Amino acid sequence: MNCKTCATETKQIAAKTTFRGASSATKCHRLECGHAWHVSTPATGEAAGDNPPTPCSCGEIVTVNALLVAGRQLALAKDTLTDEDFRAWAKQVLEALDGIPAESGAPSLVRSATTATKSAVSSTSKKVVDLNALLVRAVNAVS
Ligand SMILES: [Zn+2]
Ligand SMILES: [Zn+2]
Repeated sequence: MNCKTCATETKQIAAKTTFRGASSATKCHRLECGHAWHVSTPATGEAAGDNPPTPCSCGEIVTVNALLVAGRQLALAKDTLTDEDFRAWAKQVLEALDGIPAESGAPSLVRSATTATKSAVSSTSKKVVDLNALLVRAVNAVS
């Protein structure tokens, strides 16, 4: 869908129905950029309206999404990215991922993130890419 903040077509990571009423249902569309939007559609029988998306208010993804938005900015800034900025962000990522379950059989997200952060061979920009991918998995895991 089109992210209203990024103003570009953005891939969806996950979607979750957050409200289902007699006359309408609301779905939370969680996008790859880290933003999420609620779109409500009328129940069948009525013409689908052109309801503008509203910003997400789901508590369970707010931290992970904010870190993903920050991570996308760090990824864009790769040439000017400082080690200090990376470390401050990575510390919060590790805290956020702690306790979010990975897919069954996969190593825990926080363990994967710790390994990626400490890697001696990855560049800082590669680490940002790796942690962003783990944040995407975290959004999926809680959706
Ligand atoms: Zn966006
Ligand atoms: Zn939401």
